[in-house]
Amino acid sequence: MHLLIKNCILNGQMRDILIKDGLISKIDKSINTNTENILDAKGNYIIPSLKNGHTHAAMSPLRGFGDDMKLQPWLEEKIWPAESKITSTDVYWGTRFAALEMIKSGTTFCNDMYFHFPAAQKAFIDAGIKSAAGPALFDFFDTGKVEEMKKNCLNEIENTQISGTNSLILAAHSIYTLSFESLKWIAELAGTKNIPVHIHLSETELEVKECIARYGVRPAMLLEQTGLLETEIVTAHSVWMDDNELDLLARYNVTVTYNPSSNMKLAVGKVFPYREIKERNIKILLGTDSCASNNNLDMFEEMKFASLLQKHQNNNPELLTAMEIFDIAAGSEASVFPQISSQIKVGAYADCLLLNKENLDLIPSNNLVSNIVYSANGNCVDTVICRGKLLMENRVVKDEEEILNQIRSISKRVTM
Ligand SMILES: [Zn+2]
Repeated sequence: MHLLIKNCILNGQMRDILIKDGLISKIDKSINTNTENILDAKGNYIIPSLKNGHTHAAMSPLRGFGDDMKLQPWLEEKIWPAESKITSTDVYWGTRFAALEMIKSGTTFCNDMYFHFPAAQKAFIDAGIKSAAGPALFDFFDTGKVEEMKKNCLNEIENTQISGTNSLILAAHSIYTLSFESLKWIAELAGTKNIPVHIHLSETELEVKECIARYGVRPAMLLEQTGLLETEIVTAHSVWMDDNELDLLARYNVTVTYNPSSNMKLAVGKVFPYREIKERNIKILLGTDSCASNNNLDMFEEMKFASLLQKHQNNNPELLTAMEIFDIAAGSEASVFPQISSQIKVGAYADCLLLNKENLDLIPSNNLVSNIVYSANGNCVDTVICRGKLLMENRVVKDEEEILNQIRSISKRVTM
């Protein structure tokens, strides 16, 4: 299938871009082909789409349900009781809702973690966005639950439609919800089946203290002991890490996700050690975390928080520039996910956005990347293309009305 984009601004110059079978096949001043599929970009800006490194998509119906609370009462009084009512159908619609928000704010890929993964996977496929998702793994140190967890995990892997575009990842919740034996089993499974792993790591000081009390080592060392650092692993949050742990992560093929909004909202008490991570060439993704702890999935806002927080914390306005955070948000360090590209160039996946040049956040156009990171939000996105397909044009996304109707009733039921 072909799509010809006419008259878009790429790196400051008017260009036509031809997309064939999901890939960018030609970029030129003027392209004429016999395809009927022509999109006139009317001088709007074309940029790579954004990629969300850490989400719990199906939690979107819980937006605004519990705010301004400490972590434990928030989980015990709000989140867990609501989640106990969530069915796999709710996960499907919750994930469609999240995907709708992602599309409307220019995101075409997410690395997700939630239970009822087959329903989430189907939602990502139906929405047309790329994803990495997989069985949610936790045993709460209850040996009686381990066999059931393993059985469900293998079953879900076996019976779910997986493609390179919507790939599999083992969603190992954390070192404080999984026993040592289960963490080891996950590492072995990841190794034999060649599946990457997604885990929360060192989000809070309590997690580190409990790990030292239980195992006598800090969390990253524990991951090494379980064999998990030998897998392709993506860690979320990762704020409470000392220099020895960062040195350890640098020796392995680890990708860390930076979740500034969630870290600030839940007041985890420490800032992601960006400079130390960068110095060690550890790969970084940017993520929103869920709508329950953010409260949106807008990667434009996340870029701004990410950059400002580093500058403020380090008393250094030169740290984490607009260009650096934009590259990270576009997925330039996401080699763990080969289904995404971070650039508009021939041969790259056609995952791109048209930004409305008339949006006032983008005016004047002194510096587009500065406007994108420091001024704009997801509302500046006019058109979204993923795998060469139009997912949104003039801010219209298919199925929007049905998705919103479903979410209103799901949210009412689970938050009662
Ligand atoms: Zn999370």
